[in-house]
Amino acid sequence: MNDKRSVVAMARVVIVFDFDKTIIDCDSDNWIVDELGVTQLFTQLLRTLPWNSLMDRMLMELHSQGKTIEDIAECLKKVPLNPRIISSIKSAHASGCDLRIVSDANAFFIETILKHHGLINCFSEINTNPSFIDREGRLRILQFHDLNSPPHGCNICPPNMCKGLIMEKIRASVSAEGNKRFIYLGDGTADFCASLKLEGGDFLMPRKDFPIWEKICTNQRLIKANIHEWSNGEDLETTLLKLLNSFFLEEEKSSVRTDQLVEVDCKFLTSSIITHA
Ligand SMILES: [Mg+2]
Ligand SMILES: [Zn+2]
Repeated sequence: MNDKRSVVAMARVVIVFDFDKTIIDCDSDNWIVDELGVTQLFTQLLRTLPWNSLMDRMLMELHSQGKTIEDIAECLKKVPLNPRIISSIKSAHASGCDLRIVSDANAFFIETILKHHGLINCFSEINTNPSFIDREGRLRILQFHDLNSPPHGCNICPPNMCKGLIMEKIRASVSAEGNKRFIYLGDGTADFCASLKLEGGDFLMPRKDFPIWEKICTNQRLIKANIHEWSNGEDLETTLLKLLNSFFLEEEKSSVRTDQLVEVDCKFLTSSIITHA
């Protein structure tokens, strides 16, 4: 499905991916902490700091140990990424879908990994915690939801980011382009918050036996979207491409109907002209 007509049809599909344990198989924060050897301090401080601030603190620790931005980037490039997930992202993008990321990791980690695998240009938007390199050359992580502004008020998500709010923003931003269908893929509790914003024609692809799965099992009535679970990269690819294929066939069917309507209209017109003549 890569002719012009299918690209136009598939542009109606917005695919929103979580990043950690969805696109990559691990958690990028844990990966850096473990691979660069600061797990002990991380575990010690986990009870005293919110996750997001703790990661910023861990990067300070790594900097003080002499680890550079390049060391962190090299370490991120080793994060395992299932080749089937790489190919499914590339096919979805090539078929014309609008791909986005909503993640509680941070911009530097996500961009470094996606660039390394040649995937960065497949995504039209990455919603995540901002990062920057300060004057000392230390990587800093900020909060997606500014803690100086009023709290987002969601009791499912951490204070620095509510994925449900981001989903609402995405839906509002694309609504001017006409009717869109969403596919959401994720594994975490915050992804459950995002999936509460899906509508009846949308699809939810939760990772089976991960926190989102438990939430869905106990709150299934709250989810309006069609649910298609997945467990690994192979599942993800098969399920996602099957969904895209069914969307495409649906679009084709409805465009055939439009053609027939036009034909009927023309005949009607012709016969009425003849009658008048
Ligand atoms: Mg995740
Ligand atoms: Zn939330």
